[in-house]
Amino acid sequence: DEDLDILDAATDDPDAIQYLPALPVLAIVGRPNVGKSALVNRILGRREAVVQDTPGVTRDRVNYKAEWNERRFTLVDTGGWEPDAKGIHAAVAAQAEIAIDLADAVLFVVDAMVGPTATDEHVVKLLRSTKKPVILVANKVDDIRQEPEAASLWSLGLGQPWPVSAVHGRGVADLLDHVLTVLPEVSAVAKEQVGGPRRVALLGRPNVGKSSLLNRAAGEERVVVHDLAGTTRDPVDEQIELAGRVWTFVDTAGIRRRMNLAQGADFYASLRTSAALEKAEVAVVLIDVTEPISEQDVRIIELVLESGRALVLAFNKWDLLDSDDGLERERRRYLEREIEQDLAHVAWAPRVNISAKTGRHLEKLVPALELALQSWDTRIPTGKFNALLAELTAEHPHPVRGGKQPRILFGTQASSRPPTFVLFTTGFLDPQYRRFITRRLRELYGFEGSPIIVNMRVRE
Ligand code: GDP
Repeated sequence: DEDLDILDAATDDPDAIQYLPALPVLAIVGRPNVGKSALVNRILGRREAVVQDTPGVTRDRVNYKAEWNERRFTLVDTGGWEPDAKGIHAAVAAQAEIAIDLADAVLFVVDAMVGPTATDEHVVKLLRSTKKPVILVANKVDDIRQEPEAASLWSLGLGQPWPVSAVHGRGVADLLDHVLTVLPEVSAVAKEQVGGPRRVALLGRPNVGKSSLLNRAAGEERVVVHDLAGTTRDPVDEQIELAGRVWTFVDTAGIRRRMNLAQGADFYASLRTSAALEKAEVAVVLIDVTEPISEQDVRIIELVLESGRALVLAFNKWDLLDSDDGLERERRRYLEREIEQDLAHVAWAPRVNISAKTGRHLEKLVPALELALQSWDTRIPTGKFNALLAELTAEHPHPVRGGKQPRILFGTQASSRPPTFVLFTTGFLDPQYRRFITRRLRELYGFEGSPIIVNMRVRE
C-alpha cells in the first residue's frame, strides 16, 4: 500500500522531513442561531448530519469530510456547543480563536436579517488579526429582495459578504466556489509530517499542570531551533529539547491561552484536544494525583484511543503525595485503586510519576515517550505473525459455534502507527477470542504505549 511505503522510505533517514498531503480545513464560526448547523448540513448535502442548535447541548461530532467540485476538505463545526445569553461573547470568541489556530480558512456566519450584533463585532476584531482567509457569510437571505441587508454587512470590514440561504440552498454553490479559491490544495495546519522531531500532545483537564510542565521543559532545556531543515514554523506549536532530542509539542498555544469560559469549557477543551491529537503522534495525558481520577480524565484518554495515537500517562503533583503523612499515604492507596478501576483498559500505557513544579522525575518522560512511539511504529513481518497465529490457535482453538468452528486462514499487519492487524477468517470470531489474540500479541510484543487494532475479514 502506497502510503505505507512513503512512511517507510521517510523514516529510514532521520533528518528527512516530508509532508503527506492532508485535506485543507475549513472552520465555521458564528453566534448561536445564525444557521451554522443548517449551513454545515447544506455543505455536506445531507440533512440529518447536524441537529438544530440547542443552547447548552453539545454535539458529539465537530469534524466532517466535505466535498465540492471534486475537491475534498475537512469542515470543522466549532459551534457544537451553544451557550445561553450569558456566555455568548466568550464562547464565540473561543470558537474564533480555535478556528484561527487550527483551520486553513474560516467561514464567519452572520444573520443578515438581524444585522451585525455586538457579539459579531467582537468576533470580527479577532478574525481581523489573522492572515488566514476569512469569508463572511450573510445567511438567511432567502430571496433577492433581501440582498440589500446582506450588502450592509460590508460595514464589518471583512470584505464581500456572501449572501446565502442555508435552509433553501440559495447562494451556497457560489459561496463554495469562492471557498475553493481561497482554500489551499493541501492543508498548512493539518499536514502530516513524516520525519523530523516527533510530535507530542500534552493533554489533561484544567489545572493538572500542563502549562507548568511546558514551562519547566521549555525553561530549562529550550533550544531555539532555527535550522532544522524544513521544520514547521507553525506558531501554535513549540519545539523543545528534552534529553538531547528535539520534540515538537503541538498546540502549546492552546495550553498557554487560558479560556475563561463559565459555560461550554468542556466542549472547547475537547475541540482543542481532538485537533491537537490530529497533529500529534503521541499524547501525554496528565493526571492530578491529589484528586480522584475523574470522568473528564477518562474521556480525554478515550479521545486518545479514538485517535489511534500512542499514549503515556503522567501522574503529576507527586511532590504533594510522597511524604509519610497519614493523609498522603491514604491518598496513595486510593490512587492505586482508582488506577486499577478506571484505567485498567489502558494498563499498557507507560506511567510516570512526576512533579512539574519541582521538576522531579521529568527525565522519565522521555524514555516513556520513546517506548510508546517505538511500539506505535512496530511492524511484525507477515511470516512471523502467521507463525504466531498458528501457535495461538493450536494452543487455544476458537470454540465451536452452532456446529461450526471459525478458523483463521491468514493474518497480516496492514499498517503501523498504530499497529493494525487483519485476520482473514472462515467465520465471525467471538469478541472474547479477538481479545485473547490482542492480549497474546501484547504479551509477546509488548506494544507498551500503543493501541493495537485487530480487524477481521470473513471469507465466504
Ligand atoms: P494547566 O491548567 O493544566 O495548564 O495547569 P497549570 O500548569 O496552570 O497548573 C495548575 C496549578 O497546579 C498551578 O497552581 C500550578 O502551580 C500547580 N501545579 C502544577 N504542577 C504541579 C506539581 O507538580 N506540584 C504542585 N504542588 N503543584 C503543581
